[in-house]
Amino acid sequence: MNHRVILIASSNRGKVREILAILAGVPAEFETLERYPGLPEVEEDADTFEGNATRKAMQYAGRTGRWTLADDSGLEVDALGGAPGVLSARFAGKQGDDAANNAKLVSLLREVPPEKRTARFRCFVVLANETAILAKAAGVFEGMIVDEPRGANGFGYDPHFYVPEVGMTAAEMPPELKNALSHRARALIQLRPRLLALLG
Ligand code: IMP
Repeated sequence: MNHRVILIASSNRGKVREILAILAGVPAEFETLERYPGLPEVEEDADTFEGNATRKAMQYAGRTGRWTLADDSGLEVDALGGAPGVLSARFAGKQGDDAANNAKLVSLLREVPPEKRTARFRCFVVLANETAILAKAAGVFEGMIVDEPRGANGFGYDPHFYVPEVGMTAAEMPPELKNALSHRARALIQLRPRLLALLG
């Protein structure tokens, strides 16, 4: 029997929940970093999403011996010259402080009119084993930043990320909708056939 365990190299629960939902039906067992409490964290100091995703996938695969799927993602705001970009998770200083990151985002955009608040989420996913990259893909999700948070789903910047085509913020979208449209969904939907072929 071809039984494959794949490590999802993230401790961001929002991200992990979405990855598992998008990859539902893939014939593998998924585990997360929570299974490896003593493992040292990989430094995310590359200056691109691809660089950080590659680093996470290769290093966690090396440290665990597992096939490893890493997602590096973030928000690019045009009026801020592409910030917060690869620094999205620690925009306000502390890693993963969504409330502080959102407060900083809204305050920096205070003087920016609605039509100039275009933004996008980007996601780069890499699947690696101990020695090589097995597959990789990228996805983009276009929207605009709004001052008032709306919605209770999702995570991170979702309550301030409005998608005009559907008239909702990403946090107002039911999970099935975000998981069909998002940067993460687009990247993983591309990766999926490669993953299925690798799983034989
Ligand atoms: P990473 O763990 O370095 O990839 O950090 C990703 C960060 O980008 C998260 O902590 C969020 O702040 C932001 N981010 C990425 N994807 C999303 C999303 O789907 N919704 C909201 N925020 C996101």
